[in-house]
Amino acid sequence: MTENIGTPFLEGRYSPTLDLWPIEAKEFNRIHTFYDNLKEGKYTTTKCKGCGHISYPPRVICPECYSDDLEWIELPTKGKVITCVEKLIAIPIGFGEPLIDAWIDLGKDSPVRHVFSRVINCESGGIKEGDEVRFVVFDVPGHPIEMRKEKWIAERVFFAFEPVS
Ligand SMILES: [Zn+2]
Repeated sequence: MTENIGTPFLEGRYSPTLDLWPIEAKEFNRIHTFYDNLKEGKYTTTKCKGCGHISYPPRVICPECYSDDLEWIELPTKGKVITCVEKLIAIPIGFGEPLIDAWIDLGKDSPVRHVFSRVINCESGGIKEGDEVRFVVFDVPGHPIEMRKEKWIAERVFFAFEPVS
């Protein structure tokens, strides 16, 4: 565990620069519930209890009515590729090729119709428009936390999608 501290890359699947919430420990981040839910395999976001607005990514304050009375709702864990981009050159440090990102359609009944995500466990040319992909959660090296002279490691996870084979 210790040797991973400070270098949060994992087999080319994670970079802090692509993480919307690099410090996800609950002591520092009010959307840590998103990560607690990930650990249970749930893909979630926030819905405003006041006006009903659904945000993605999750928020701590509703962008429509500024209420902070939000609830967590689940999103589908399967979707279809709308379009994808595959990078074979100029790959950020820590990643291997191909580096694949996709717009994913979670279906007409989903609270959030479209999401943008990394696609992992996929060969070059392995997905195309219309292919089915599923949500996947993976471990990320722990993040060191220091607060009030105490130090500990925040266990971390992150998510992506992968082809349904
Ligand atoms: Zn609202």
